[in-house]
Amino acid sequence: MVACPNSLVMERLRSKYADLIGRSLADATGGEYRLGFEVKRRHSQLEKQADLGPLFSEKKEDNGLFPAYTFDSFVVGPSNQLAHAAALSVVNQPGKLHNPLLLHSGVGLGKTHLMHAIGNEVKKREPKAKIRYCGAESFTNEMIDAIQNRQTAVRFKKKFRSVDLLLVDDIQFLAGREATQEEFFNTFNALYLSGKQIILTSDRHPQEIRKLEARLISRFSGGMVADIQPPELDLRIAILKQKAKERKVTLNEKTFFALAEQIVGSIRQLEGTLNQLLLLTEANQEASPEELVGLITKKSNSNEPSAFIPPEAIIKEVCRQFEITGEELIKAQRTKEVALPRQVAMYLLKKTTPLSLEKIGNLLGGRDHSTILYGVQALEEKIEKNPNLRIKVEQIKSKLWG
Ligand code: ADP
Ligand code: MG
Repeated sequence: MVACPNSLVMERLRSKYADLIGRSLADATGGEYRLGFEVKRRHSQLEKQADLGPLFSEKKEDNGLFPAYTFDSFVVGPSNQLAHAAALSVVNQPGKLHNPLLLHSGVGLGKTHLMHAIGNEVKKREPKAKIRYCGAESFTNEMIDAIQNRQTAVRFKKKFRSVDLLLVDDIQFLAGREATQEEFFNTFNALYLSGKQIILTSDRHPQEIRKLEARLISRFSGGMVADIQPPELDLRIAILKQKAKERKVTLNEKTFFALAEQIVGSIRQLEGTLNQLLLLTEANQEASPEELVGLITKKSNSNEPSAFIPPEAIIKEVCRQFEITGEELIKAQRTKEVALPRQVAMYLLKKTTPLSLEKIGNLLGGRDHSTILYGVQALEEKIEKNPNLRIKVEQIKSKLWG
């Protein structure tokens, strides 16, 4: 059996080289063989963990919930225990004790995770409960659709007013949107009056959201308002350990400590840094974990690109600049619209990260290293000839390091 990295290679080998391989084998071993071909990707354990992960593969359920965001995977410490306790009491007595529950904090500190945890836990205990999660932004967009079309208007009302548990993320987005605020107020009241539980999150206290109607501020603050503070060192270490466990890797205590000590910002950053460390460990097997932590956390100085840019961030930015989705970028399609951004991604990943051609290929949907090499060279030539493209690539770079 000949293992091939992808179906393209498999077809080429089968059609062009099957005879040659068969004959060489027979010559070398003196035996007769019937050759088979199969696609078998060579992923090491770490590559799988550090692949595009949540960026592209996070699966949402119909009710909008992420199954992975549970109470089990939520680590509790002094900075979030108030919010955690409030969340638990909502699970135990939905609609009764804290209605609405409003969680607020700076970005990346666990509001969305905790909110989904409540939804998932209620679902587990009451499989029949109707739950709906949505961001305030998609609530707004759906409402705008609803205004334009009577049928969607009916569906919209039904969707949001017939639930037992409504979770609305990032309500600061409602600021200044009067029509949405009006509709949201009505939805809120309908649910509230029939004893349904409402959970909201915001990146600040409702009183600090400018251009939010007073009646909404008063509704939002009328139940339980719980904030989440930035995590202290011990919690940061515990969270890193939890995330490493989820990715089925172990690091030594010193590494956990070094990372947690350096990254004082959000938990999202902490998680991103752990992912970078895992990728870097794979690419630089000789380096010690301490060196790698140093490399990642080294502050970027003025013009020098920082030591390491997360490949996910590069891919995301390329997609944003070319207005395509991550999936389109990594899919097999070869139309011009996606081929160019794909080459730009190949080029930037090659030039700015220590990843090998193989790994870049894996990140970009399982392409082989020769495809990547070709893409990088092709883009270099295009940049030479096309000043607009050069500017675009520079723009992406400055976005990433700017
Ligand atoms: P926010 O909504 O406040 O911006 P998120 O809920 O999206 O933050 O959290 C950012 C990331 O950090 C998520 O991947 C989440 O799983 C993780 N995270 C946040 N708080 C915790 C925690 N206490 N335990 C484990 N993971 C956490
Ligand atoms: Mg959030």
